[in-house]
Amino acid sequence: HAKSSGSNAYSFFEPSMNANAQEQLQLLHDLRTAIQRREFVLHYQPKFRAPAGPALGAEALLRWQHPTLGLQKPDLIIPLAEKAGLMVTIGEWVLDEACRQLRSWMDAGHPEWTMAVNLSPVQFAHIGLVDLVASTLKRHGVPAKNLVLEVTEATAMRDVETSLDVLNRLVALGTSISIDDFGTGYSSLLYLKRLPANELKIDRGFVMQLAQDNEDAAIVSAIVALGQTLNLNIVAEGVETAEQQEFLTELGCNSLQGFLLGVPTAGQNFLGMVDEQARNGYRNVGADGGAG
Ligand code: C2E
Ligand code: MG
Ligand code: MG
Ligand code: MG
Repeated sequence: HAKSSGSNAYSFFEPSMNANAQEQLQLLHDLRTAIQRREFVLHYQPKFRAPAGPALGAEALLRWQHPTLGLQKPDLIIPLAEKAGLMVTIGEWVLDEACRQLRSWMDAGHPEWTMAVNLSPVQFAHIGLVDLVASTLKRHGVPAKNLVLEVTEATAMRDVETSLDVLNRLVALGTSISIDDFGTGYSSLLYLKRLPANELKIDRGFVMQLAQDNEDAAIVSAIVALGQTLNLNIVAEGVETAEQQEFLTELGCNSLQGFLLGVPTAGQNFLGMVDEQARNGYRNVGADGGAG
C-alpha cells in the first residue's frame, strides 16, 4: 500500500450517486467475492489521551480495495452489505482481523492498548454476536478488557430491552462498550443510566463548530458533565484543529480522536506512526504539527 492509501484516497464512486441497477448488481456481485479475494482491509485511527497523548489504542475502520473502483469506505460498503445479507459475515471478518492486529501490537510492546470495533445494527441484532466475540478473543489470545465495542446511540436505542440484554452480556465477557455518535440519538437520561457503557463518543457534528458556536460548546459541556456523573470516559471524535483540541481538553474530554492527531492508516504503518509520536514525546501530535 502506498502511503497515500489513507483516508483521503479518492473514490469516484460516490454512494450519493444514484448508481443504475446494472452497477448496483455488479457491486453486489463484487462484494460477494471480496472476502475470498482478500479485498477488505482495516485502517486504524489512534485514540489519544487528551490533549496530545499517549496513544490509548485504535479504532478499526473498514475499507474495500475494489479492483477497478479503488478504495471504498463504509458509507458505500455497509448499506451494500446489508442489502446483500453479508453484514454479519463481513462483521465477523472485521472482528477477527482487528483482534489479530491488536494481538500483534500488544506483543510489540503495547499490552495495554485497546482496539475499538464498530458494530452495525444488523450485527448487534444477530443472535450469535456474544459467542462470536468470545470465540474471536479466545482464538487470538486477546483479553476481553482490551476490546471496545462501539455501538451508535441510535443502534442501542432501537430495541431497548434487547440492546440492554446484549450489552450486559458483552460487559459480562469483560469487553468495554462505547456509545458512538453520542448526542444524535435522543437517548433519555433514564435509558442512558441503564446502559452498561464505559465510554461516550461525542459526535463530530458537535465538534466541528465548537470554537465558533456557543450552543455546540454548551452541548459538549453538558455531555461531559453527564458522562462524568455516570463515570464514563468521554471521547471527542473528529478533532481537526488545535483550537478544538484545546477547547475539548478544557471542557473535560478524556480522550481525543481526529485527523489533527492521527488519520486512519493501514495496519503496517500504524505502529511506526504512533511509536514515532511517542519518541517525540507527543510534541508533534496536534497543535505543533499534526500526525501527517
Ligand atoms: P464512526 O465510527 O463514527 O467513525 C468515525 C468516522 O469519522 C470514520 O469514517 C473516520 O475516518 C472519520 N474521521 C475520523 N476523524 C475525522 C476528522 O478529524 N474529520 C473528519 N471529517 N472525519 C474523521 P469512516 O471510516 O468513513 O467510517 C464511517 C462510519 O462507518 C463509522 O463512523 C462507523 O459507524 C462505520 N464503520 C466503519 N468501519 C466499520 C466496521 O468495520 N463495521 C461497521 N459495522 N461499521 C463501520
Ligand atoms: Mg466508531
Ligand atoms: Mg463516531
Ligand atoms: Mg461518527
